[in-house]
Amino acid sequence: RPDVFTFGETMVALRGSGPLKLGGTMQVSVAGAESNVAIGLARLGHSVRWAGAVGEDEAGQLVLRTLRAEGVEVSGASTDQDAPTGLLLFEPRLPEVTRVHYYRAGSAGSRLTADVIDRAFRAAPPTVLHLTGITPALSPTARSAALRSLQLAREHSSLVCLDVNFRARLWTAEEACAVLREWIPHVDVLIASDDELPLCLPGGGGAMPAPQSGGAGPAQEGGYRETSPDRERTPDGPQSSEAPSGPADNNEPTIAAQAKLLLDLGVDEIVVKLGAEGATAYTHGGSLHQPAKTVRAVDAVGAGDAFVAGYLSALLDGEEPAGCLERAVTTGAFAVASPGDWEGAPTRAELGMLGAPPGTVVR
Ligand code: ATP
Repeated sequence: RPDVFTFGETMVALRGSGPLKLGGTMQVSVAGAESNVAIGLARLGHSVRWAGAVGEDEAGQLVLRTLRAEGVEVSGASTDQDAPTGLLLFEPRLPEVTRVHYYRAGSAGSRLTADVIDRAFRAAPPTVLHLTGITPALSPTARSAALRSLQLAREHSSLVCLDVNFRARLWTAEEACAVLREWIPHVDVLIASDDELPLCLPGGGGAMPAPQSGGAGPAQEGGYRETSPDRERTPDGPQSSEAPSGPADNNEPTIAAQAKLLLDLGVDEIVVKLGAEGATAYTHGGSLHQPAKTVRAVDAVGAGDAFVAGYLSALLDGEEPAGCLERAVTTGAFAVASPGDWEGAPTRAELGMLGAPPGTVVR
């Protein structure tokens, strides 16, 4: 059994160094929430399979080659001859604000079908299935593929981890809520930002705040377009981690109440990501808050995916929620302290580096 199976859309990512409209040079890489998690887990020594669809183009080759080079098993990925690999552009607009522009409508990745999932489970059912709320927003076939993965996970007793990852440019809160609340009874570990919890609860669709960036509203024509800025990411400054771990008494009571409802619906662990504040886990045993690690933030994009990789890694190692949170805030901090979505993900041997005093040289 592979430790983890995950699937979704991975795109070519071009990263500029200033306002896009001025031109200049861009760095070429790949990005996708699920493959970011897969790379994070592979770096930590876990066996990971990723599936998805790429175009029959050089961009698709770059996606597969990068994942292979990172030790992620991609034999279940499919190639679509009729659609291109998706593209996203990162535009660092201010030192602390990055704009992301997507060109993914009608992409190969969005045309993912359920047979990719069937093949993956036939080849080897995983210990953990990880999926995100991005995939069901891509297209009706991708949504069916995600639903199929939940059914197969249940049949094969795979633990299901869902990262909500709401993307307001892909679908509305109401659409997301309609799908996610159906999924909740199948989910064992739910990872979300605090404002995403209502999306997983009955009647929660209206509770989601409007997208952060300007521009058109979430539902663009066709319902599945995402070709303009999705959001602007602002890395938070260095944070103190002086506050001790302990019961989550500083959180909004509403978050605890929402987590309680989700526990009652059958989720075993609800993990709420709080950016530079760290994260809180809610289980039937109570709640536990873990402050973030102190780092100089250079690029907040990908922190959530790195966090998930750390959490699942510790879970696979048999750690309790406290140990999972500790590793998750560590991998999350590595992500914000390094440029790129996944490039800075630590190996197991590097996990301890974060506490090193400034100026440390490792020889
Ligand atoms: P993204 O969408 O970019 O992947 P997210 O919104 O899903 O991010 P965040 O809550 O921003 O996720 O970050 C995930 C985790 O990363 C946090 O719980 C925290 O542990 C860590 N983290 C985020 N920002 C910082 C920071 N400024 N300093 C240290 N750790 C951070």
